[in-house]
Amino acid sequence: MKYVGAHVSASGGVENAPVNAAEIGAKAFALFTKNQKQWFSNPLTDDNVRLFRENMVKCGYKSWQVMPHDSYLINLGNPVPENLKKSRNSFLDEMKRCELLGLEMLNFHPGSHLKQISEEECLDIIAESINIALSKTKGVTAVIENTAGQGSNVGYRFGHLRYIIDRIEDQSRIGVCLDTCHTYTSGYDIKTEEGYVKTFDEFEKIVGFRYLKGLHLNDSKKELGSRVDRHDSIGKGLLGADVFKRIMNDPRFDNMPIILETPDDSLWAEEIRWLYNLVEA
Ligand SMILES: [Zn+2]
Ligand SMILES: [Zn+2]
Repeated sequence: MKYVGAHVSASGGVENAPVNAAEIGAKAFALFTKNQKQWFSNPLTDDNVRLFRENMVKCGYKSWQVMPHDSYLINLGNPVPENLKKSRNSFLDEMKRCELLGLEMLNFHPGSHLKQISEEECLDIIAESINIALSKTKGVTAVIENTAGQGSNVGYRFGHLRYIIDRIEDQSRIGVCLDTCHTYTSGYDIKTEEGYVKTFDEFEKIVGFRYLKGLHLNDSKKELGSRVDRHDSIGKGLLGADVFKRIMNDPRFDNMPIILETPDDSLWAEEIRWLYNLVEA
């Protein structure tokens, strides 16, 4: 069974996210648990937490159907010590917010070397950052997202994800999320049938589907291997319909949040319906 939804707004309070998700017919959703453009926000109030939990039940969502995303400011591989410290503190705060809300995952982009250190050194710092956050929290899995490899972002090869996982002390609380746009523009040709088969065989070999906690379903404005991260609405970009049909009929993506991060939120309800229509009986 597929659980498709979108990264919905939490403006006005995290408790609004499940309601916004239910309104578009989402069976899963992502949210920011705080303002994603700030390092730190006000703590969640008791009311926020209580109402969020109530709305989760009312709207029929279980915690595994929700994949919170961290702030874009955070760089867990930052080569500059004082900036790294800020990122680690902010990330820990986000993990604790998820804990409070009864959520079990936090999705994040691994980090960037800022051209000051090597990719490997950056990946080592990221692994250490994750270990620190996991040691100070309970029950929340850190979910690394593959990237397009734009700028100095690491995480654009499956080998990078594996490198980090290998250095995590508690491997029961590490996972990955694949973004279809990032996968394609980082150079994995999921658009063609052969490319799709090859890419996910390689993913299984290098990372393993047991670590896959969710998908971001986005079309791409940029071409294969461009290493540029520009999402497009489903069916409007360069990916074409076939890859989405394959995913919607691939049992390896059952029972996990499949999240749209497409640019036009007025299309989400329609995109979700369209995707479910691809499922073959
Ligand atoms: Zn994404
Ligand atoms: Zn992206």
